[in-house]
Amino acid sequence: MSPFAKLSATLAAVRHDIGALAAGNSEAVIAHKFGGSSLADASCFRRVAAILLERDDATQVTVVSAMQGVTNTLIALAATAATRDPAWQAQWSGLRERHLETARDLLDDRSGAVRVWLEARFADLADTLKALAVLGIPAREALDAIQGLGEVWSATLLRAHIEALGEECALLDAREVLVVSHGELGVSVDWQVSAARLAEWRARHPQRRIVITGFIARDEAARATTLGRNGSDFSGAIFAALFEARELHIWTDVDGVLSADPRLVPEAVSLNALSYEEACELAYFGAKVIHPQTMLPAMALGVPIHIRNTFKPAHPGTCIATVGDAAEGPVRGLSLADQLAIVNVEGAGMIGVPGTAERVFAALREARVSVVMISQGSSEHSICVVVRGADCSRAEVALDAMFKRELGQGQIKAITVTRDISVLAAVGDRMAGMPGVAARLFATLGRAQVNIRAIAQGASERNISVALDSADAARALRAAHAGFWLSPQTLSVGVIGPGNVGRALLDQLREAIPRLRREANLDLRVRAIMSSSRLLTNERGDLSADWSAQLASSDQAADFERFSSHVHAA
Ligand code: ASP
Ligand code: MG
Repeated sequence: MSPFAKLSATLAAVRHDIGALAAGNSEAVIAHKFGGSSLADASCFRRVAAILLERDDATQVTVVSAMQGVTNTLIALAATAATRDPAWQAQWSGLRERHLETARDLLDDRSGAVRVWLEARFADLADTLKALAVLGIPAREALDAIQGLGEVWSATLLRAHIEALGEECALLDAREVLVVSHGELGVSVDWQVSAARLAEWRARHPQRRIVITGFIARDEAARATTLGRNGSDFSGAIFAALFEARELHIWTDVDGVLSADPRLVPEAVSLNALSYEEACELAYFGAKVIHPQTMLPAMALGVPIHIRNTFKPAHPGTCIATVGDAAEGPVRGLSLADQLAIVNVEGAGMIGVPGTAERVFAALREARVSVVMISQGSSEHSICVVVRGADCSRAEVALDAMFKRELGQGQIKAITVTRDISVLAAVGDRMAGMPGVAARLFATLGRAQVNIRAIAQGASERNISVALDSADAARALRAAHAGFWLSPQTLSVGVIGPGNVGRALLDQLREAIPRLRREANLDLRVRAIMSSSRLLTNERGDLSADWSAQLASSDQAADFERFSSHVHAA
């Protein structure tokens, strides 16, 4: 089951729970969430406060992560202390100094009270760590409490800074109101209790601005807990729902959700708008900007989520809401998942035999193998499933055992595993009911000489997935991106003979390429340069200024075959 299907199963329940609470908040509440990279040091806190104070949100709720890297350090700290390694003391004092320094830098002569408070908190932490060192094992409860301290510190710093700028601001430690339980499907929120506690808290804290700790909560037994690593986006969505916010802005360090992984597709663009479903599909394969689970509370209430760049606040980012962008083409984004494997069960004996698929999936479930993609042709001659590479041996063993008899008698010819598989998915709500999208995808991949191993499209028609060899994956992704006019037309160029004339040509190209890309929608990629003795190849085709030094030091000898296959590969 896709994570989205899993989520929608609980969606109705959440909507019911939260809907019942909707007290009809008349003030427009805007919720914000800032991640650790937006809170790396004092200048980051200043930037965040400037963004917040510039806005005219009637009520402003701001959820924060710990300062960058702090959660990792806290976890390492607890682990070090638990092994009785005295090195924890140095880590502890580094962390303490970093926070005190940020307070000093940020608050200057007003930093006294916060520094005293921080020193007391770090003294408490040292006591806990000493106790862990005595125990010699990290008690889970202690670890849960320690992990979440970074958010308490960062929220305190931000709040103090906002107040120092002359604005009233309340601080909400999420453990005072947010109650969650940990179950098989992850973390679930006790909406009733949390909303009641928040209403009580709010009655005592009527300020217009509120800073809230992300990541942390309390469990049913009133113990300090967390929402899991990277949980503060989820906190952002939870508090957006509890405050009945009109919008949730998730501030991060990228321009929004991109049309494809920019490391593989340099011309990937940031998307203006996506539907929740599109964002979930894209998030599943690769686009790690937002995790589907975190969207759930916002989705349930239809709160639009804006993904924004803290370092470029003027950029509108990506708006994720009930409906996506009607003005855009059918495919909104492409994602790529790698380190997968295909497991194929094949044999004439399966044709028309009911229950074969059921047994395949039962065997995989027993072996705790999660299925990424499924495909079966209507001849029923083979069933193909894509699984994680790390699971494929287990899958193979389980299927061999399940079909031992059929394999012996030849009804099933073979169970084969192909490793190093990637899945490319094209995602878009408007693919549904639109003929020709698949044709275009396959034609593009065909032209790029990509061999497709398996295909799947769910009946929602919002995702077409193709399994292919990982060696072809980057090329397939680029071709598909260009094929859906998400990128300019790409032309692969190779130059032989970089003498005087060739050198002049390359210099002209270097100068013309950005302009051609901008003005003529033409993307020239210089993928290979060959002299009489050496060959220089470049995967991305971005011609660097020192190409001639690179060519001179290249360890590839001139080779016409390699030159031409590299230029033609893209
Ligand atoms: N600070 C927590 C973590 O690093 C939560 C978050 O940043 O989302 O996992
Ligand atoms: Mg984070």
